[in-house]
Amino acid sequence: DASSLSRIGLAGLAVMGQNLALNIAEKGFPISVYNRTASKVDETLSRAQSEGPFSLTGQYSPRDFVLSIQRPRSIIILVKAGNPVDQTISALTEFMEPGDTIIDGGNEWYQNTERRIQQVADKGILYLGMGVSGGEEGARNGPSLMPGGSFEAYKNIESVLKSVAAQVDDGPCVTYIGEGGSGNFVKMVHNGIEYGDMQLISEAYDVLKNVGGLSNSELAEIFGEWNRGELESFLVEITSDIFKVKDSLVDGDLVDKILDKTGMKGTGKWTVQQAAELSVAAPTIAASLDCRYLSGLKEERESAAEILKEAGLEEEVGSVKSGVDKKRLIDDVRKALAVFLDRIKKAYQRNPNLASLVVDPEFAREMVQRQAAWRRVVGLAISAGISTPGMCASLAYFDTYRRARLPANLVQAQRDLFGAHTYERTDRPGAFHTEWTKLA
Ligand code: NAP
Repeated sequence: DASSLSRIGLAGLAVMGQNLALNIAEKGFPISVYNRTASKVDETLSRAQSEGPFSLTGQYSPRDFVLSIQRPRSIIILVKAGNPVDQTISALTEFMEPGDTIIDGGNEWYQNTERRIQQVADKGILYLGMGVSGGEEGARNGPSLMPGGSFEAYKNIESVLKSVAAQVDDGPCVTYIGEGGSGNFVKMVHNGIEYGDMQLISEAYDVLKNVGGLSNSELAEIFGEWNRGELESFLVEITSDIFKVKDSLVDGDLVDKILDKTGMKGTGKWTVQQAAELSVAAPTIAASLDCRYLSGLKEERESAAEILKEAGLEEEVGSVKSGVDKKRLIDDVRKALAVFLDRIKKAYQRNPNLASLVVDPEFAREMVQRQAAWRRVVGLAISAGISTPGMCASLAYFDTYRRARLPANLVQAQRDLFGAHTYERTDRPGAFHTEWTKLA
């Protein structure tokens, strides 16, 4: 009976899958769900009752699951990236038919998606690799969706995606990204940018705390205030909330009890690798990634801290902090952060072919207005021995990109001297080589 079939299916009911399935069901699209481990199907069913009731059907075998969905079938999978995706695809495609679609919503390496597009095409099955952003909360209440791959497959579920996505001023947060693995690629870069944003916010925290001497409650207040102004954003908002949470195990604030080692799942590393592959400078993201690696060297850092303290470093840099004007520092850090967290989308709406944000007239104006504050924060942090690799890398990028002439002429001369790599001239075309050592 076709009328009892679901509009869509979702396999993989961990955090992301459960929440996205409930979101889809809540928007009025009957959905079938499946998970390798049956208990997660039961969990999802009971949430569909308690948070709904919604039209959500639990299935316990790949066959029953696939056959419970209307044709052409659209099946979202949200399992761990890599092999689990291949295993899930092979379990499901056994029962799928030509014209049906697999939509991988995981943080998948885009080349895996491109391989799978070819693989399922033999069976006439369509494929989308769809980035899903917003975490658990976003999946449940409105994620940003980045579908790429088959346009026909996208059209089949466009109405579902548009109604489950986050709704903002200019519509739902979903658009067809392009062919192949482009949806995953865009999500990867999005995660890389998020590494950068998080790093910059953590540096702002470090400077305010360790140079400005701000307490956690002052930090909660400052970030809360910033979130009500030009820095309004999800990350600034959650940062303010984090500073308010007391520890439940011992006295004090939870943030101070968290080990300073950052985890990662790979998307930041992939972004830096891809940037290098494409000869694109991505210094802020690279600095964030390096910081995550350095954060992992906890024991080495502890021992280095000890040795350098004995060598007298603390007295040398510690004196910087005493003369700091707290109010001005807070204002400077806000301005420095505002340079990064600005309205990027607007700049590209003004000019989709913008070479760099630096040359968008509005961005350029704002950067010029704030660069002095940005330089003061970085300068002060450097003198105080507080590392701000993200802010420094961004500033170096800005100061490199905006300069018409760089010292690259000297590097080119060195290359020509030791390797006869030739050089170009500023005043006439062609490749030149000089016998430098004979002339020196
Ligand atoms: P996850 O922890 O990455 O994966 C757990 C899910 O994968 C479970 O449903 C598990 O099934 C299934 N699974 C693992 N190995 C499997 C296999 N060999 N065969 C079949 N199923 C297998 O789950 P998640 O955190 O919800 O994330 C899902 C995807 O979304 C990931 O790609 C993740 O990177 C991406 N993502 C996550 C977030 C987030 O905030 N967590 C945000 C955006 C995107 P069992 O229950 O049977 O073990």
